[in-house]
Amino acid sequence: MDSETIAYFSMEIALEEGIPSYSGGLGVLAGDMLRSAADLKLPIAAVTLLYRKGYFYQKLNSQGIQSERPVEWVVPDFLEELPHRIEVSVEGRKIQVRAWQYNITSKEGYSIPAYLLDTDLPENSTWDRTLTHFLYGGDQYYRFCQEIVLGIGGVRMLRALGYDQIRRFHMNEGHASLLTLELLDEEALRANKKQFTHEEVEIVKKKCIFTTHTPVVAGHDKFPREMVEKVLQRKEIFDMKEVFCCEGILNTTYLALNLSHYINGVAKRHGEISRLMFAKYSIDSITNGVHAATWVSQAFQELYDRHIPGWREDNFSLRSALSIPNSEIWNAHFKQKKLFIEYVNRETNEGFDCNILTLGFARRSATYKRGGLLFHDILKLKELVSKAGPIQVIYAGKAHPQDQPGKDVIKYIFQIKEQLKESIKIVYLENYDIDMAKKMTSGVDIWLNTPQTPMEASGTSGMKAALNGIPMLSIPDGWWVEGCIEGITGWTFGKTPINGTTTDASDANDLYNKLENVVIPTFYDRDRFINIMRHCISLNGSFFNTQRMIQQYVTKAYFR
Ligand SMILES: *Cc1c(COP(=O)(O)O)cnc(C)c1O
Repeated sequence: MDSETIAYFSMEIALEEGIPSYSGGLGVLAGDMLRSAADLKLPIAAVTLLYRKGYFYQKLNSQGIQSERPVEWVVPDFLEELPHRIEVSVEGRKIQVRAWQYNITSKEGYSIPAYLLDTDLPENSTWDRTLTHFLYGGDQYYRFCQEIVLGIGGVRMLRALGYDQIRRFHMNEGHASLLTLELLDEEALRANKKQFTHEEVEIVKKKCIFTTHTPVVAGHDKFPREMVEKVLQRKEIFDMKEVFCCEGILNTTYLALNLSHYINGVAKRHGEISRLMFAKYSIDSITNGVHAATWVSQAFQELYDRHIPGWREDNFSLRSALSIPNSEIWNAHFKQKKLFIEYVNRETNEGFDCNILTLGFARRSATYKRGGLLFHDILKLKELVSKAGPIQVIYAGKAHPQDQPGKDVIKYIFQIKEQLKESIKIVYLENYDIDMAKKMTSGVDIWLNTPQTPMEASGTSGMKAALNGIPMLSIPDGWWVEGCIEGITGWTFGKTPINGTTTDASDANDLYNKLENVVIPTFYDRDRFINIMRHCISLNGSFFNTQRMIQQYVTKAYFR
């Protein structure tokens, strides 16, 4: 197909509610970006894995102990099977791979294809068939094999589908970086060489783009050299130090860094952090966004349609939300809040009250996100709400099945819920997914974000809230460093020097002061609060969206 195509590779992509092909922010971002790319009619093709059993379905018992079930979904209800077959090699064994197609289609009818690779074919051995069952499941060996399917298999599948002239390969995180090995082999073959050399590296580099998404160490895959050599059945690649570096391990982040000519972090602050982590490389930043039409609730869609016609096609025009009257903003918000609170009450029977300031906190339950920070000193918290005004808090989020400390955070919130039930209502909703995220980021009053700096590369849920006029109360990390104008678009707490960290105690203390003296009084003084809501939309909704973001990828990376 034509030489303008951009191939976008991601281990996870949130395509739609019923397809369990994502675990959190990385996948949601990939989906949102592709939706904006479709809106702008860009020539992109996406590659990911199928995940027949999903990430997982989360159950929480009455103590907040998480258990995981495979997601049951009917693949052909959502995807179209393609006849093409390619193979990849694992320990010399040939594994057959097929692809299923999903079209990401814009309102105007332009489609971007996403190809979901699948090894669950009768020709393959039982174990090989499981390779595309679970997202982030299994051990290191399983993961490495999955990355072979994604990276090497992905390039081969695109070729089989007729994409022989791809302009750029975009690696969304290091998981897909084995695609570079396939591209190097292709170039070596083209040049009639047995083994690729520095020349091929330079050619491949011109084609590749890498986006790094996290400073969290566990987010960067490292595979032992012996395993890599055994699985790939080739040793010679490690001779090329400029590509396959690092004492005895294959670090997929370095592989991607070494073979990309454009590298970026996902917020300005994250760019700075990444330059410290990977000092040898030139690293830019493109701040994340969300797909506006996906994340704006029904009531706000109607409001924007009345006041800002064309806002979906031109998200920048949301700037004129500044002229929407107070009562209309509040009515739209209250409508969504009431819907959500009624939903929460039906699901949990906790008797949440629509007139009480409702804080929302939902994201993957990873420890650096510090889901329990609000309860660092519960006596102080109780005292401040009795003085400043009542609050209620709604939580959601899955912990990775192997992340016991992350699971403990959920359990801890269940314990606190019991302790505080006379003074602050708390609820933890099960099975957080994009559908729940839509309800929450439009149905609470304030979005709370408490990561340990500098671990939150960007964060995006607060952007979804902003598009619904909901301000964020957050640690200054990720996108919030750019998004917060104090008292205008929300509030920051916890003062953190770059590359330094603060303690939970000092951050919590700062959070309590902000809540008591600023946030709660502002909420209960309706007009002041609505003024902040309006600025969330006009300053942040108009900018922190994937329409602006993809345009930056186009001008900085895809078409230059
Ligand atoms: C937006 C979203 C996330 C990311 O939230 P962060 O605050 O950026 O961590 C995770 N999971 C789901 C289901 C989402 O919709």
